[in-house]
Amino acid sequence: MNEAVECRGEPGKVAPVVDRNRCEGKEDCVRVCPYDVFKMGTLTSVERKGLRFIGRIKAWAHGNRQAYVVKPEACRACQLCAEACPEDALSLAPNLA
Ligand code: SF4
Repeated sequence: MNEAVECRGEPGKVAPVVDRNRCEGKEDCVRVCPYDVFKMGTLTSVERKGLRFIGRIKAWAHGNRQAYVVKPEACRACQLCAEACPEDALSLAPNLA
């Protein structure tokens, strides 16, 4: 956890959404999130099939590694991940889980 950052949002109200056509697995979100919401993973064949052509090329070029939201209930809406992502692949949405 990044102790230098204070997130004051109520946990679990929103959660990040990863745009699978944009994520290039650079891991900035994993590094900056103070609450370990993200983990790196590998796209499944079903997820790969759901990508646009350019998304499939990008995913292939990065070993099909992307960020996954593994603890949506921990998100406190600080937006550090969205600001850190160089591919503009993250947004926050209401957490309906
Ligand atoms: S907004 Fe992003 S960085 Fe902040 S707590 Fe939620 S997932 Fe982590």
